[in-house]
Amino acid sequence: MPKCDFIHSFQLPELKVLKSYRESKNYFIFQVLKLSDFEVCPKCATPSKTIYDHVYVRIKDTPIRDKQIFLKIKKRRFFCKSCRKPFTEPVGGIKKGFRTTDRFRRHIMWCADNFANLHDVEK
Ligand SMILES: [Zn+2]
Repeated sequence: MPKCDFIHSFQLPELKVLKSYRESKNYFIFQVLKLSDFEVCPKCATPSKTIYDHVYVRIKDTPIRDKQIFLKIKKRRFFCKSCRKPFTEPVGGIKKGFRTTDRFRRHIMWCADNFANLHDVEK
C-alpha cells in the first residue's frame, strides 16, 4: 500500500509513516512518528522545542479486512522549562492514556450496533 494512501485513509495527518511490516500472519505494524516543530506543555501551555527523550507506544487501530493493525508510534518527550518537567507529545486521534485510536473505538461501536451478538463483533 502506498504510504500517502495510508495517511489519507487513516486520517491521522500528523503522523508520518516510516515503514510498515507484517509481524505475523494477521498482524501489520505501521511505524510512525509525529512531525511538528514544537509542542505545548499540557500543564502550563508553554511551547517547548527541547526534546528530552523518546518513548515507543503501540496503539491498536481499525482492522483492514481481517488484518489487525497496530501503530508503533515513536513519541517525543519534550522538556518544559517553566515546569522543569518532561511531557509526552499528544497525537490527534488518540486520547491520552488510551491504547487504541479514536476511530478504532468508533469501529467497535459501529460493530456493536450492526451485529447481533458479541461473537459477531469479535469477527
Ligand atoms: Zn509546563
